[in-house]
Amino acid sequence: MGEPGERAVLHGLRVAVAGAGLGGLCLAQGLLRAGCDVHVFERDPGPDVRRQGYRLHLDARAGLALERCLPPALFSLFQATCATPSRRFTVLSERLRVLHETAGDQGADAYAAATLATSVNRRTLREILAGGLDGRVHYGRAVAGFSQDPGADSDAGAVRVHLADGGEEEADLLVGADGVHSAVRRHMLPNAEVVDTGGRCLYGRTPLTDAVSALLPPALLEGFTAVVGGQVGMATGLVRLRERPESAAGRIAPWVQLTPADDYLMWAVTAKARELGVDDARLADASADPTELHRLARRAIRSWHPDLRGLVDLAEAEQTFLVRVRSAVPVAAWAPSRVTVLGDAIHAMSPARGSGANTALQDAGVLVRALIETPDDVVGAVGRYEEEMRTYGFAAVEASRKAGEETGARGAGRLAFWLYRRFAR
Ligand SMILES: Cc1cc2nc3c(=O)[nH]c(=O)nc-3n(C[C@H](O)[C@H](O)[C@H](O)COP(=O)(O)OP(=O)(O)OC[C@H]3O[C@@H](n4cnc5c(N)ncnc54)[C@H](O)[C@@H]3O)c2cc1C
Repeated sequence: MGEPGERAVLHGLRVAVAGAGLGGLCLAQGLLRAGCDVHVFERDPGPDVRRQGYRLHLDARAGLALERCLPPALFSLFQATCATPSRRFTVLSERLRVLHETAGDQGADAYAAATLATSVNRRTLREILAGGLDGRVHYGRAVAGFSQDPGADSDAGAVRVHLADGGEEEADLLVGADGVHSAVRRHMLPNAEVVDTGGRCLYGRTPLTDAVSALLPPALLEGFTAVVGGQVGMATGLVRLRERPESAAGRIAPWVQLTPADDYLMWAVTAKARELGVDDARLADASADPTELHRLARRAIRSWHPDLRGLVDLAEAEQTFLVRVRSAVPVAAWAPSRVTVLGDAIHAMSPARGSGANTALQDAGVLVRALIETPDDVVGAVGRYEEEMRTYGFAAVEASRKAGEETGARGAGRLAFWLYRRFAR
């Protein structure tokens, strides 16, 4: 698929991508449009075997990358299936007292690439990103490592990609988009560190039925809300889709299959493990049991206002999942080669600021642009991409780390401040 005739300047370049997450799929789309022979190797046996989250806040970093990489029909489908933008960002106490309110930017077009400021259903976005990549995404084929020919740092060598199933693939460029535990990063930058911040998030989803809508405090109906409850916090985000994914696909790109989705409220109860009333070992055991995680979330907010408790009570308990907050330590510059990394594989960050997916997509757009600029100098293009990515990527890690710390603090003023910075862009 794609439109190779338009700018097939990378015709014949063989690219292997490790990981069919948001960054890897976006990159594959952009490279395919540019004429590359791209293949994505994904560890999971299929696209929907793990819970990966529901609502994703996206901004212009994602908008511009998606516009660059996706064929126009898929970009239109993305815009049609976004959620309606938040109108207001509110900080509440656990007794529903409004501590701070910020109005959203009403002037800019929230769905245009350069001013994007909305949210999406993650599964829908991932399905759109996979549109037209049939035969190019290989599920159940984890990347275990790689080796390079002696000339691989020049434009003559090649990379041998070692797969966990014993297979091998040869490529002119390998991109590790294989997430926070990246096998490619471990081989490429063995000293790069990712630390566990100790923060734990219990994520859940409550369908937006009439009963739930009636229960929703007015602030939660307006979009994104943070509840400050001492050592435990909660973030909520409403997802009201502009158009049902399945009908939008039928109208705009009938060759893409989108799973039906309904409106819902995403919530995340955040705290250190001990504040959830369990130690980390027990939390690890509980992570395989969504109903136990749901019980822990309910218990963590048991003294809160009944309307807030009701929203968690009415959730789809079996959809609850645990996220351990991890954060990458900045890495000093390294020599570019025919192997590189993007997204969480290099700059994993706290979800507190809603920046990880935006940055992963931005990486994909920047790498595609760099390769198109110098099609005959792959290593040079990788070097320019990495230099730019290190700067904005690790800045985003630091901003998210601070936001995470401030979310956990009792001071609502500081929390309001990061909310303001996050949304007043
Ligand atoms: C609950 C939650 C909410 C979030 N909300 C937001 C938000 O609102 N906004 C935002 O910008 N960010 C958000 N984030 C962060 C965002 O989800 C990540 O930063 C983003 O998914 C990173 O994209 P990626 O492509 O780098 O990695 P991923 O999306 O994690 O994809 C990596 C892929 O690689 C695969 N893989 C792993 N190992 C291998 C291997 N060895 N070989 C092959 N494949 C492999 C994995 O199975 C996976 O499919 C949130 C995260 C969570 C958990």
